[in-house]
Amino acid sequence: MPARKAEGTAPLMTFDELYSGLEPAGRRFLDRVRAVNPKKDFGFRGNYLGGPDEGVSFKRIEEQWITKKGKSEKLDPQYLPEDVFEAFEKMMQAMERDLGKRLLVESGFRSHAYQLYTYLYYLPKHHYSLIETGHWVAFPGWSEHGAPRRQAIDFINQEGINGEDNVEEFERLPEYEWLQKNANRFGFELSYPRGKSGITFEPWHWRYSQPR
Ligand SMILES: [Zn+2]
Repeated sequence: MPARKAEGTAPLMTFDELYSGLEPAGRRFLDRVRAVNPKKDFGFRGNYLGGPDEGVSFKRIEEQWITKKGKSEKLDPQYLPEDVFEAFEKMMQAMERDLGKRLLVESGFRSHAYQLYTYLYYLPKHHYSLIETGHWVAFPGWSEHGAPRRQAIDFINQEGINGEDNVEEFERLPEYEWLQKNANRFGFELSYPRGKSGITFEPWHWRYSQPR
């Protein structure tokens, strides 16, 4: 993981890499978490989206900067399937023309191994409850971030507002209002609207919904 982080390729990490540094007990633990079926076991209302598609080529997104309390901060490199990146870029050019600002990709594609890593990272913060953690981080295979055919993007604005601490703060952004009016034209839709999907409202999480 440190090597992947250093080269900015953490979202592309493989299961072999994730397992390689672990003792047998650690590997068995990962196996058990991967065997969980959140729909059957916890009544999770999303769907299993399958394994990552082979042969998808990804665009690496770099040089994304936010300015928070007067301090500039560079985001970690992110990855999107090339056609999704093109649609995103067109959409942001239109937003910039209308609002003079754009949104950045805080999180794009995440391999299943990286999704599992992220899930386990948050597990202690939710008192080791698989269900509680699952409200915030999807199980590998159940996230639109790991399914290039319905690739999701988590947006963050240029002031670093991503809704993580305060959902309404993101919901009040002019950028969010703009997305609601215009994103469909560019092939994007809001995955988890307020009170509709049975999954926590996530105004920052949009998926590319064009059939491909
Ligand atoms: Zn998301």
